[in-house]
Amino acid sequence: MKILLDRLSESPTHYRFEAEPAWWHQAQATLPELEQATPKSFQFEVAVHRMGSDVYLAGTIRGELALGCSRCLARYCHPLREPFRLILEPAGERVPADPQAASALVRDGLCLVDELETGWFRGREIDLGAFFLEWITLAVPVQPLCREDCRGLCPRCGADRNVESCGCEEVSPSSPFAVLRGLRSTKTEGEG
Ligand SMILES: [Zn+2]
Ligand SMILES: [Zn+2]
Repeated sequence: MKILLDRLSESPTHYRFEAEPAWWHQAQATLPELEQATPKSFQFEVAVHRMGSDVYLAGTIRGELALGCSRCLARYCHPLREPFRLILEPAGERVPADPQAASALVRDGLCLVDELETGWFRGREIDLGAFFLEWITLAVPVQPLCREDCRGLCPRCGADRNVESCGCEEVSPSSPFAVLRGLRSTKTEGEG
């Protein structure tokens, strides 16, 4: 997933990358969420242009992740569509303070200096593979939901409340806190 800097001009050059086997192997080892995905289910598109000595990149990462819903535990397919922008300036003689960034600059000709928005480049080509993987990693939701209104599992009998109503009492009447909670939820329902 390399971009040759000598070929760039001030008007955008468009690239479309396929996931290479080596990249895919590493990506799946890094992110278990990619286990069921296939290289063909990912697309990387980017437009690159020069602005003075800087390099501007703008594009989209599209794909699918296989995730487990945080409420009902069902496996589901999570579509990914991540637009990104990246501004790179020549690293010159500078060395990144972060050792990981320093090795990325040597390996990929590219390192990030401020989140995923800005970075440095060095040499005549940059490899976007690690950058794409970083974006995908950050795009994995902390609390995945198979759908916005997923009703989750019954805490008492474990039934999936999306597919059946188990008839369990929501709260135990023996606990005074539970009674209070019950009152509050009745009130909320009345208001809604
Ligand atoms: Zn769910
Ligand atoms: Zn139940």
